[in-house]
Amino acid sequence: MSPDVYQLVVLGGGPGGYAAAFLGADLGLKTALIDVEENPGGVCLYRGCIPSKALLHVAKVLHEADAARAMGVEFGAPQIKVDAVRAWKEGVVKKLTSGVGQVAKFRKVTYVCGFGTFKDAHTLSVSLASGGTQEIRFDHAVVATGSRPATLPFFKDSARVLDSTSALDLRDVPKTMLVVGGGYIGLELGSVYASLGARVSVVEMTSGLLPGADRDLVSVLEKRVTKSFDRVMVNTKVVDAREETNGIRVTFDGAVKESTVYDKVLVSVGRKPNSSGFGLEKTKASVNERGFIEVDSQRRTHEPGIFAIGDVVGEPMLAHKASHEGRTAVEVIAGHKVAFEPAAIPAVIFTDPEIAWCGLTETQAKERNIDVAVAKFPWGASGRAMSIERTDGLTKLIIDPKSERVLGVGIVGAGAGDMISEGVLAVEMAATAADVKLTIHPHPTLSETIMEAAEVFYGQSTHVYRPRRS
Ligand code: NAD
Repeated sequence: MSPDVYQLVVLGGGPGGYAAAFLGADLGLKTALIDVEENPGGVCLYRGCIPSKALLHVAKVLHEADAARAMGVEFGAPQIKVDAVRAWKEGVVKKLTSGVGQVAKFRKVTYVCGFGTFKDAHTLSVSLASGGTQEIRFDHAVVATGSRPATLPFFKDSARVLDSTSALDLRDVPKTMLVVGGGYIGLELGSVYASLGARVSVVEMTSGLLPGADRDLVSVLEKRVTKSFDRVMVNTKVVDAREETNGIRVTFDGAVKESTVYDKVLVSVGRKPNSSGFGLEKTKASVNERGFIEVDSQRRTHEPGIFAIGDVVGEPMLAHKASHEGRTAVEVIAGHKVAFEPAAIPAVIFTDPEIAWCGLTETQAKERNIDVAVAKFPWGASGRAMSIERTDGLTKLIIDPKSERVLGVGIVGAGAGDMISEGVLAVEMAATAADVKLTIHPHPTLSETIMEAAEVFYGQSTHVYRPRRS
């Protein structure tokens, strides 16, 4: 059988891979996209961003119905039909993944459903989901194989031990659940289970939730999660876990020293790159000591015809970073002079309230000894926040005091994840605080808090009195 020949082959159909393949086709390259799933989508659409956001929406509806009591509207106690919630969430995933599959067809991207393995620097062999193998020759390949959940050695395979994938399956709601790791996944999925009625405890080995994020943003979230979570244990590590008849007995060490039994444990201690097991060693591409594929600023590996993007090349492991890298790599392949050099990659944790930031954080400025001015607008002074009963928020700008350029933006509050895009644009466009201040924002909106934070920098915020800067 003669092999199929493509100008571009993308291995891995997540948001990095399919964005790359679609642009490849748009730029006129004969393109194939390989993934084991029936449609493109990857972890993000099938087992990550999208299903978790669907479940977080359920959590939000439950919270809002409860909060309505303070506004004079009472609902009865919610009846949660776990099977129906799961079916709705699966419907969302199906609609999106089959839609993306259709878009691949419209663009004439050949979608190959199967597991691809490099045979050499220009050949992939695909074990087809339908049986048999298909050999594909290519001029250029983009590796977009993503990542998988990291594990801890003492948590053995058990129906009581969940990772992000099995937690999103939502088979039932346990009475008690321990979340190991107070990062993105732990807080998002912990919030979902808490709102569905589980008593959730979180154990985090560092001194606070979401290490890396600015503490003033996290403390707003902490105030709320300490109400919805049973217990938050920081500076504490899990050192042992054993299955008993009634649950998993987990032993802690550090600030908390005890052993406690939980119905279920969600392990969310980070993710590992998928950089082995598919023949990469048959090419000149190399992998660093942390398992990430090494690439240059154009996302080219040490094998000139092979590029790599997304989680498999390093942090931050975020879908939007992968899509952007994917498009950059394909533009390079198509002969454009471009590189992956964003000024800001936004991070969003979709808890309630959401936390979002971009560019330089205050923490990084301190660590790197960078002189910055920080202008904060507390949501208690926002009319819109008051009218939706969500004054638990803060918007801050990290500003270079000399050039007055906005170097970073941090937001905690309802809808912070949508609002941060304005911050990313400000950082990318090298906006000054004056640019943000002089941009008329619609009233009454939460986005005004960004404009007013810029006004705070000049001591001119309408709703916050601050003595003028000298
Ligand atoms: P994470 O890196 O966000 O958090 C892991 C946490 O576990 C850290 O706070 C770490 O200190 C802690 N930890 C590690 N080992 C521990 C131990 N033995 N005991 C107690 N705590 C321990 O990782 P995650 O939450 O698993 O998410 C993985 C990645 O997935 C994230 O880095 C992110 O890139 C991505 N993700 C993004 C989103 C989003 O964009 N909203 C959502 C989910 C996941």
